[in-house]
This record gives sequence, structure tokens and C-alpha cells, in this order.
Amino acid sequence: MNKSKVIIVGASHGGHQSILELLSRYGEDVEITLFEAGDYVSFMSCGMELYLKDQVTNVRDVRNFRLESFPQPNVHIYNNHEVIELNADKKTVIVKSTAENKEKEYKYDKLILSSGVKPNSLPLPGAELENIFLMRGYNWATKIKAKLENPEVKKVAVIGAGYIGIEAAEAFHKAGKEVTLLDIIDRPLGTYLDKEMTDILENHLKEKGINVVTNAKISAFVGDVNVKAIKTEKEEIPVDLVIQAAGVKANTEWLKGSVDLDERGWIRTNEYLQTNLPDVYAVGDATLTYSIPARAKMPIALATVARREARYVVQHLFEKIPSSPFGGVVGSSALSVFDYHFAASGLNSFTAEKAGVNVHSSYYEDTLRPKYVPEQQGNKKASVQLFFDPITHQVLGGAILSTYDITAQGNVIALAIQQELTLEDLASADFFFQPGFDRQWSMLNLAAQHALGEEPFVE
Ligand code: FAD
Repeated sequence: MNKSKVIIVGASHGGHQSILELLSRYGEDVEITLFEAGDYVSFMSCGMELYLKDQVTNVRDVRNFRLESFPQPNVHIYNNHEVIELNADKKTVIVKSTAENKEKEYKYDKLILSSGVKPNSLPLPGAELENIFLMRGYNWATKIKAKLENPEVKKVAVIGAGYIGIEAAEAFHKAGKEVTLLDIIDRPLGTYLDKEMTDILENHLKEKGINVVTNAKISAFVGDVNVKAIKTEKEEIPVDLVIQAAGVKANTEWLKGSVDLDERGWIRTNEYLQTNLPDVYAVGDATLTYSIPARAKMPIALATVARREARYVVQHLFEKIPSSPFGGVVGSSALSVFDYHFAASGLNSFTAEKAGVNVHSSYYEDTLRPKYVPEQQGNKKASVQLFFDPITHQVLGGAILSTYDITAQGNVIALAIQQELTLEDLASADFFFQPGFDRQWSMLNLAAQHALGEEPFVE
């Protein structure tokens, strides 16, 4: 019997998870071929900060998998192989081997696209100057590391104060550089957190010595060969190096004319993550994903999303009509900002407005443990913000922030959103109490009770 041929495009989270899932479901009954355009398989950008901060010493360890991770005879992984064309009629892809500069046609029964995104290079005067870097993938990681260790690099500007920009700013600051962090909007991390929390973090960044420039309208990069300054509407900021972390663009140019893309290049998929072409599926950053709280598709560029989508696609790959649609994701992330840690899930005011969802929010601050436990014993303050439907009280988003590592509580918020719980559910959820960790009611109980307008918990 001929085995089904499954071709995967892209060796990152989506591609990796597809192989794992195919092997665990179908073992040797499928022929799996993965093409990766780059040389390196498979750098984990999520771990780049750990490498930049010397918490992982060998850059080659920061990866999802290696070429040799799958010795099974039915798994074929080709790096330096760029898929350049998709012929839906013949059910083939044309693949260019970049090392040999040769093209070859491969047949598929099922095709899974996980070609991801590339970071935006701002189209500004001076964009061609040296020392304007991006932050994604193995090659940029090693280049950035070299600059971190170069004493001649003294002033670094990071464009984009999302989580990638914050990671870059912190790594350069810890390496002793003078860091300016610029963002076009009015506060850092403004697409992840509401103002109550970004105020805390913005002050903290400034306290640590980061020059935070918000509402920054950058008009040019200045220099002869190397970049020497960033020009904004208000000032010229001297720099030796620029890191651009200002959004991404889907790797889908090669699909134009075959796969249905939206006006910005994201791959359109249906509720089964199928493209417009038969037997062609798409997962990960190159697609828009279904957000449970927004009840709509939106870009949520996270490894967690690519993996859940790949798992779903493979689970239903050989069903004529998939038995259930993809359940969607919440979109959860966590980050340390120097001494603070936060986790955020689902919608916030910024993303809710963009998605046209009406949310109310409630902000709550308290100590994590009973008041009699001194702060020096670890009784830190924490903040919780909940976003909810004003009529049904369904929890649609939330974030938690503290100098204590409370990120695990972020996963509780994520689960509440995914399971469509209400404030009332969260207010009475049966969490443990032990004064070494927690209060008589856990922070999330108290935050939900506060959002419901209940009397404060007085000790
Ligand atoms: P990508 O990771 O974008 O990879 C796509 C792959 O496809 C690439 O290797 C590319 O070379 C290849 N490719 C593209 N076109 C072709 C083609 N035509 N032929 C062959 N190959 C092709 N997410 C989290 O959840 N948590 C984190 O902590 C986190 N931290 C991050 C930190 C940084 C610095 C960055 C940059 C991202 C981070 N992310 C994080 C996001 C996460 O890395 C992405 O969401 C995830 O990698 C998406 O996986 P993907 O499979 O969609 O594609």
C-alpha cells in the first residue's frame, strides 16, 4: 500500500509539532517530508534572551529540534530547501535547493504550511546603513550576541516596546550598554497590558536606566556607512546599534496567486485550518488565528498557537470532514521586566477595541499573603487586571503582575478565559490557602470579587 505523503513547510514550532503529531498518530504509515529554507534547524527565538543574557551558553542548544532528532525512516528533513511554488492541480510543490541552486518537484497528499513570519524592517531613509538589526532566528541571535560583547558598541536603540523589544533592551542593559527604547504608541507593552500596569513597568524601566521614548515618530536613520543616530520628530538620538522589533510580515509572497491571502498577506483558513486549496492546511504565525474571547480571527503570533494548531490539523488530517472545528486559542504570554514578572491572557483594552469587543475592566492590588507576613519574608504586592463582558460577566482577558513570580496564576486566568468562566466562577473558585504562599482567598478570587463590587477583604 502506498503511504500518504505529507509535506510540511517550515522547521519551527508548527513544523516540529506536525512531525511529532504525525508520528504519534500514524507512526510509519505516513511519509513525512519537511522543507526548511534556512540552514539552521530549528532555532527557538523564544529562548534567544536566555542566550543573550548568558543563561544558556551554547547558542546551538537553543532549538526545538535537530536534523538528527527524527531518525525514523519515514521522516525526511531538508534544510536549505525553499519551497517556491505550489501547484494545487497537480498536488505538488516546487522546491529550490539553495546549496545546489536546483529545483525539484515533490508530490503531496497533504500539505501543512507553517512558513511563519519575518520581522519588519522599517522603510525609512537610511534603512540600508550597517548595524540596523532584527531579532529573530539563529543568524540574528549570533550577530546580536557579538554586538553585546563588543565594547565599542555603547549606545543601543531598540525600536518597538513589545515583549521582543523589552527582551532586547534588558539584555543590552545588562551588558552595560546605554539603551533607548522607542515605541510609536504612548506606553511600553501597550498591546499586552493596560495603563495601570504599564505605568508600573514604565517607571521601573526608567528606574533601571532605560531611556523610554514613547509616541516616537521615527523619520530616518542617520549615518554614512554605520548608523549613527535615529531621527525622530523631536530629537536625534545617537546610536551605535539599532534593534528593530516593530512587527512582522508573513512569509507568504511565494503563495500569492495560489493560496487565498488577506490584504496584509496572512493566509486565510476556515474553521478546520484548511486553506482554499484541497488538502492544504496552514498553521502558526503566517495565519490569523481564532481567538476564543474575541470570537474572531486575529494575528496572535505565539509558539503556543502554532503548536496547538498543528496538533489539531494532524489529528483531523485524514477525516473527510473534520469531526470538530479548531477550538481556538486564548493567546497567553509571560515576561520578566527586570525585577517584575507578568503574565497576560486573552483581551485587554487595546486588543478588545481593535477586535470591536466591548469589555469592562477591573484593577485590583494587594499583598499576596496575609497582612501580618512582612514584605521581607516574601509577602509582595501583586496587581491583577480582569477584562469581562459587562452583561454576562464572562472573563475575556486578564493579567497579573508582581515582583514575585506569579506567572503560574496567569495560566489560571488563561484557563478561565478558555473555559468561558464568569467573574462569579472566578470569585468562588476553590483555590488552596496556605499563608506561606497565599491568602485566605487567593489573589484571583479577590480580584474577581472586587470586579463584582463586593466589600473588600479586611483583616
Ligand atoms: P516561524 O517560527 O516563523 O518559522 C517559520 C519557518 O519557516 C522558518 O524557519 C522559515 O525559514 C521557514 N520558511 C519560511 N518560508 C519558507 C519556504 N517557502 N520554504 C521553506 N521554509 C520556509 N512565542 C511564545 O509563545 N513564547 C515566547 O516566549 C516567545 N518568545 C519569542 C521571542 C522572540 C525573540 C521571537 C522572535 C519570537 C518569540 N515567540 C514566542 C514567537 C514564536 O517564536 C513564534 O510564534 C513561533 O516561532 C511561530 O512558529 P511558526 O511555525 O509559525 O513559524
